Amino acid sequence: VAMTEPQAGSDVGNVQTSARQEGDHWCLVGRKQFISAGNGDFVIVLARSQAGSSGLDGLSLFIVPREGDNYVVERAEHKFPIRGSTTCSLVFESSRAELLGEAGGGWKEILTFMNESRIAIGLQGLGIAEAAHEKAARYAAMRKQMGLPIREHPMVAEMLLDMETTIAGLRAIATEASTLQDVVTHSKDESATRQLRELTPLVKWYGSEEVVRVCRSALQIFGGYGVVTEYEIERHMRDVLILPIYEGTSQIQSLMAVRDLMRVILRHPASLLRGGPTPMLGRARFGGDFAAARGTLVGSLRGLIAGMARRGGLALVRGRRQPTEDEIRPFMLHAERITETLAHLHVARSLLEQAARVPERRAVADRAARRARIVAKRNAEAIASGDGGVFARVDEWARQRATPSR
Ligand SMILES: Cc1cc2nc3c(=O)[nH]c(=O)nc-3n(C[C@H](O)[C@H](O)[C@H](O)COP(=O)(O)OP(=O)(O)OC[C@H]3O[C@@H](n4cnc5c(N)ncnc54)[C@H](O)[C@@H]3O)c2cc1C
Repeated sequence: VAMTEPQAGSDVGNVQTSARQEGDHWCLVGRKQFISAGNGDFVIVLARSQAGSSGLDGLSLFIVPREGDNYVVERAEHKFPIRGSTTCSLVFESSRAELLGEAGGGWKEILTFMNESRIAIGLQGLGIAEAAHEKAARYAAMRKQMGLPIREHPMVAEMLLDMETTIAGLRAIATEASTLQDVVTHSKDESATRQLRELTPLVKWYGSEEVVRVCRSALQIFGGYGVVTEYEIERHMRDVLILPIYEGTSQIQSLMAVRDLMRVILRHPASLLRGGPTPMLGRARFGGDFAAARGTLVGSLRGLIAGMARRGGLALVRGRRQPTEDEIRPFMLHAERITETLAHLHVARSLLEQAARVPERRAVADRAARRARIVAKRNAEAIASGDGGVFARVDEWARQRATPSR
């Protein structure tokens, strides 16, 4: 599907490719960038069909056949990850198109499959992580240094255990999200819809960022052989780097996760007093590292909310008015830290739930909970230490933009 344009990446609302109705068909004018398999026989394009509309309104989906040079595949990018998948730049100059779905309903249609594609990125990450881990585990058992297979050196063993934990955790939350997606597709279950909305950006984030770490560890375990092409680890390292970028970058997933979380908290501030921070995490009755990690995150969120109340007044915190962009700035700055902790908490919750039914899962679940506690603490310290001068720099850049020097 062709959404991205040179000026509209994360900001899909800035799509400018236009669609005009001419008799029984539509004509598209514009340019699309980074389109996977854009060199096929047709492409599905998101374009602005309502003249004068802006943002996510007035967009529609179109099927555009390529036959008869209906549009130009300007080039396929030369890139280092996923070289088996072409990434094309497309130009539409009065290209004949057929409306797909309702006029003006393009963004709504996109959302029906974008959710699934984000879970699919988690599954793509799972595949890459499995492949990298399998090779690293085999190599670490065979490669000897200082008289021992390197996996018997504790630092290498820890890398392998961390990789195993990530893989088990990612499989757990990706499976949960996929199951919820099925429920949501085939019913109107509101609780499943809320849970899916909570998990999806976390699956995308964890399945990207944590799998980058898995590949980095695999490469490290291979030592010098990791960077030569014979062992394929370098391919996994290259391929994995696309995951945090496409289908919504890691920062965009974090903004989505944290905006939703803020909405829940501002609507029910008591959720931060009753275990919280979301019903899904609040319901989990696990103690030890899990409870400590959750408590640490709740503490960070309380700190951020208290800061908001100091600046914006209690009406804001009680949900009587919407916060301004300025008031939520600290949340936005720390969005990825909060998201990382949320993702690790959900991984721990999901694996602990499995361990309650299947005792063999206990060790990996406990490792995931321990990691969640460590991650939560690290992020809480960063959040509590303020903005580190970021806001002053942002304000300075905004002033420079407002008064460009001549
Ligand atoms: C190999 C490949 C295949 C692709 N396939 C497709 C496809 O089939 N169809 C399609 O439509 N698109 C596709 N894309 C495009 C992809 O979805 C975009 O690259 C992605 O959404 C990011 O957009 P951008 O590259 O313009 O980066 P930008 O949006 O310019 O972002 C640049 C950086 O700024 C950060 N950033 C942006 N806004 C914010 C914010 N508000 N807060 C914090 N950080 C922010 C981003 O996280 C990123 O780190 C593909 C891209 C690649 C590389």
